[in-house]
Amino acid sequence: MPDEKNFYKDIIDNLYDGVYFVDRDRVITYWNKGAERITGYSPAQTIGRSCRDNLLNHVTASGVLLCQNHCPLAAVMEDGREREVEVFLHHAQGHRLPVMIRATALRDETGKIIGAIETFSNNTNVINTRRQLREMHRAAMTDPLTGIGNRRHLEGRLRAIIAEFQDGASHAGLLSIDVDHFKQFNDAYGHNTGDIVLRMVAQTMRHALRATDTTGRWGGEEFIAIVHDVRDEDDLRAAAEKVRALVEHSRLDVKGQGLTVTVSIGGTMLLAGETPDSLVGRADQMMYRSKQAGRNRVTIG
Ligand code: GH3
Ligand code: MG
Ligand code: MG
Repeated sequence: MPDEKNFYKDIIDNLYDGVYFVDRDRVITYWNKGAERITGYSPAQTIGRSCRDNLLNHVTASGVLLCQNHCPLAAVMEDGREREVEVFLHHAQGHRLPVMIRATALRDETGKIIGAIETFSNNTNVINTRRQLREMHRAAMTDPLTGIGNRRHLEGRLRAIIAEFQDGASHAGLLSIDVDHFKQFNDAYGHNTGDIVLRMVAQTMRHALRATDTTGRWGGEEFIAIVHDVRDEDDLRAAAEKVRALVEHSRLDVKGQGLTVTVSIGGTMLLAGETPDSLVGRADQMMYRSKQAGRNRVTIG
């Protein structure tokens, strides 16, 4: 069937994706319309040139230039295994463009590798969607008022830390933190100022602990912190005491007044056979003891 070759060429020419072929020396032997549309280079500008010849200059998101040592086309011609990589290619107008490329070996009738095919598609939409998903996930896990994790986030982290503990992979403790006499504070300075103070407490708490610890708002004026890598109650008490003292010394300046609040903290170590409820319940009990003992203090047990 004499037209068979043209038939396939027509299909490939008109594919929406970019397609090009290289021979064993990585000289471009074919360049379809999709490739022209995506890169801005015409077949006349590409066919006969080596793809490493300052043409597409694939670079990864972290800035690694693939052309010299990590060329996916060179790699598939080496071992015949197909590869898929996300890269940024060089557009004829100079800018970098995100594409998903797939490199496949091109073989003759005997199976010998005689070149490679690269297909690529504009990855902008995929990247934008992924970015939106990440942002949506972040928003779903963040308390909008204080900017730290919300209850959903904390519940997920609690389940994770319990599972890690069960595997013997970690030691951790939990702190329940409640603002003292906050109703009075709101009554005296207004709910809006109260909101700003909650943010102050949350951010102070977050910075008092390590970046690897988890802090979140459990609800209202109650917070929880998961403190990692604490060996015993003394370690946990030291972390809690740091939170307590730094909150006590935080100050919101409003109309010439320095407003401060204190917190009562209860802490407990993660034990075997724990559930999120048992863990939070025990920390809460300790927190109430701090309240009963006069507030602005830490109780561990
Ligand atoms: P205690 O020392 O016993 O904890 O006293 P308290 O007044 O803090 O305790 P209580 O639980 O009776 O009151 C909590 C207060 O926290 C009441 C509520 O108005 C306030 N509150 C809860 N959530 C928010 C919030 O998002 N913003 C503001 N401004 N206040 C809040
Ligand atoms: Mg409370
Ligand atoms: Mg309170």
